Amino acid sequence: MRTNQYEAVIGMEIHVQLKTRSKMFCACAVQFKDRPNSNVCPICLGLPGTLPTVNLEAVRLAIKTALALNCTINKKSSFARKHYFYPDLPKGYQITQYKEPLAVNGHVEINGKKIRIKRLHLEEDSGKLIHSGRESLVDFNRCGVPLIEIVTEPDIRSPEEAVQYLGELKRILTYLNVSDCDMEKGHFRCEPNVSLRKVGETQLGVRTELKNLNSLRNVKEGLEFEINRQTKILTQGGKVVQETLLWDEKTKTALPMRSKEESEDYRYFFEPDLPPLIVPQSLINEIQSEIPLLPQARKKILVNKYQLNEESADIIIESKEFADYFDAVIKHCSNVQLVANWLITEVRGVLNTQNIPINEFPVSPDVLGELLTMIDRKEITIKAGKMIFEEILKTGRRAREIAEEKGLLISFEEDTLIKIIKETIQENHDVVEKYRKGKTTVLGFLVGEVLRKVKGKFLPQRVSELISKFLNESQP
Ligand code: ADP
Ligand code: MG
Ligand code: ZN
Repeated sequence: MRTNQYEAVIGMEIHVQLKTRSKMFCACAVQFKDRPNSNVCPICLGLPGTLPTVNLEAVRLAIKTALALNCTINKKSSFARKHYFYPDLPKGYQITQYKEPLAVNGHVEINGKKIRIKRLHLEEDSGKLIHSGRESLVDFNRCGVPLIEIVTEPDIRSPEEAVQYLGELKRILTYLNVSDCDMEKGHFRCEPNVSLRKVGETQLGVRTELKNLNSLRNVKEGLEFEINRQTKILTQGGKVVQETLLWDEKTKTALPMRSKEESEDYRYFFEPDLPPLIVPQSLINEIQSEIPLLPQARKKILVNKYQLNEESADIIIESKEFADYFDAVIKHCSNVQLVANWLITEVRGVLNTQNIPINEFPVSPDVLGELLTMIDRKEITIKAGKMIFEEILKTGRRAREIAEEKGLLISFEEDTLIKIIKETIQENHDVVEKYRKGKTTVLGFLVGEVLRKVKGKFLPQRVSELISKFLNESQP
C-alpha cells in the first residue's frame, strides 16, 4: 500500500471554557463541584418569559483571546439560536454566534508555519448527562457556561502538527489566563476534521469529524487511526462518507455516532432577545494593552538575548508562571545559564516529586538566586550547593546562613588547606613516588584524599593546583 500517495488535511474546532465567575447570560456561578442543579436560574433553565444578558467579562476574555490569535475583531457581531432537541439543552436551542462572529482571520504560528484561524465566537455550554445503569441523570450546572469556539482553516497536515497547534493554543490561553484549559475537565475540547487528498491536489477531499478526544494523546492516536482508515478506503477505490466519529480510547478505534445525534439542520436564526454586540475601539485598545508577552515572544528573548538553547527555552516557557519564576531568579543571579540549568533539573525535579505547580514551590526567587550566585562566584562547590538547596527546601533558611553554619564556604585563606595537603603528601609516600616516576594520574587520588579531609569545602581544581605545585616544588 503506497500510503505516501495521499496527504492528510486537518482543520480543528476547539471549544474553550472561559474563566468567568458567572455564566454567559445569567448571574449563576460557574462552579461544577457544587450539588447538581444548584447553580441554575430561570434564565439558564430556559423558562418562558426570561431574558438573557451578556456577560461583559466573557466578552473581554474572548476579545483578549482573539487579539492574541491575531484576529480582526468585528466591531459589530450578533447572537443566533442553534436549535436541537436534547435533554441537556432545556431551552431547545443554544445561543451562539453564526453569521456575524466576534472575530475572524487570525493565525497561530508553529515552527514558523502559520495555522490560519477562520473565526472565533462566543457561545454558551449545554448541561451534562450522567449515564448510570439504565438511568440517565441531567445536571444543568454547566448550562449557560461561557465558551469560545475557535475554528481553523484546514491548514494542519499531520497528527503531530495538530498536537503542536493545540499545545501552542493552550499555552497562549493559559498565558492570557482566559481559561484553565484542563482537557480532562472539559475546559478545552477539540474536534478535528480530517480528509485525505492526492499529493499535489488542491481541492479538499471528503472529511470526517472526530469527537471525544480528551487528551493530546487521544488527538494524536485518533487522527492516526482515522488517516489510516481513510487511506485504506481510498487505496481500495472506495469513497469516504462524511460523518462524525466517536473515538474510543479503550479500543483505540473511532466509530460513527448514532445518526439521530447528527442532525444537520439547526434552523439557525438571529437571537431576538439580544441586541448586536458592539465593541468600541477603546475597549479593544484597553484589552490589547493587558495582553502579556506571549510564549513565543518570551522564547525569542531566552534564545536571542540569553543564548539558551531551544530545548531549554521551550521548557522554561511551558507555563507563564515558570517563565515568570525564571525572570525573577535572574534578577538575583546574573549567570543565566546556571539559573536555567537549575530550574530545569533541580527545581522541576522537586515540582515533579512533590507534584506541585511552580506557584506552590516553597523557595522564593531571591533565595534561590542567592544560592546560585554563591555557586557562580565559587564561594561554595556545586555539591555543597545541592546540600544547601535541600536544607533550604526543608527549613526555608537563606543559603549564606546555612553555608556558614555548616562550614561549607570555600575558605579564601588557604593556610588550613596547605597544612592538610602537606600532611597528605607525607602520609602517602608510595603514591608520591609513583607520581615522581611519571605516573601523574595518581594526582587524582591525592586530590580525593584532601577533599575528603576538608569535607568538600574547597574546589577540586584549587586543591589539585596546590598539590601539583607542592609535588613539583619538593622534587629532589
Ligand atoms: P461545519 O459547518 O460542518 O462545522 P466548517 O466549515 O465550520 O464546517 O469546518 C469545520 C472545520 O473543518 C474547520 O476547521 C475546517 O477547516 C475543517 N474542514 C472543512 N472541510 C474540510 C476538509 N475537507 N478536510 C479537512 N478539514 C476540513
Ligand atoms: Mg462549524
Ligand atoms: Zn442561571
